[in-house]
Amino acid sequence: VRLATVKGRATVLVGEDAFDVERASQGRFPARPAALFESWADFAEWAVNVGLAEDGRHREPVELALLDAPSPLPRQIYGIGLNYRDHAAEAGVTPPESPAVFTKFLTSIDGPYRDLVLPSSNVDWEGELVAIIGRRAHNVSVDDAWGYVAGLSIGQDYSERIVQAAGPVPQFSMGKSFPGFGPIGPWLVTPDEFADPDDLAIECTINGETVQKSRTSNLIFSVPELVSRLSTVTPLLPGDVIFTGTPAGVGWARKPQRYLRPGDVVVTRIEGIGAIKQGCIAR
Ligand code: ZN
Repeated sequence: VRLATVKGRATVLVGEDAFDVERASQGRFPARPAALFESWADFAEWAVNVGLAEDGRHREPVELALLDAPSPLPRQIYGIGLNYRDHAAEAGVTPPESPAVFTKFLTSIDGPYRDLVLPSSNVDWEGELVAIIGRRAHNVSVDDAWGYVAGLSIGQDYSERIVQAAGPVPQFSMGKSFPGFGPIGPWLVTPDEFADPDDLAIECTINGETVQKSRTSNLIFSVPELVSRLSTVTPLLPGDVIFTGTPAGVGWARKPQRYLRPGDVVVTRIEGIGAIKQGCIAR
């Protein structure tokens, strides 16, 4: 199942068709994605057969520019730092023994095809796999953890490196939370759609040049490991979002360092999901 948010409404995509969830379910499920995640298990079961329905069917292709994040109002947003060995190496730190966790504040979340307003000349890219929670998870085991994940999506964890490094201790949450710094999309794909949801090719390009390329099997803490470990402290809630970390190739670690400039186009791709794209513009 592929779930997108089109003009604020939960929409299931089947091939070229788009089904408005509230209309196609004749009101059984709500239009608002935040409410829909509360009944995720029932919805996911229903959505498998939605392609047979005529109610709520739209045959116009979905306009990518109109998409919002598949979970546009998560109550909790987790970011994981240094979760690929090659990225930890380029950052000059030893791989962590427990996940390095920060938050991206809600106002950073954005649709997958919007412009990125650069607040400074020190904005970096971080292409990431995003996991979206479908069921309250508290103290869940690694073996059970996939059962709490609604689906996977693509994100960018844009980072203002000066703000991130300022202060007596690093300010990850602030440096990564300017408006538009957390685009997610273009849709959520349920785990059953992947041959192996723990091993997906991930790539980030700038103006067509590949700057990051890896596989999610290289994550130090996999999606089920993260769900399990995070859930020992904070119960994860339906619709919550986890940015799982970025592979090597960020601009800060380059010699010379490279940051995003107005006119740059950033495309992030993950196998089995699709791509998201931001055009960078000056403030
Ligand atoms: Zn990141």
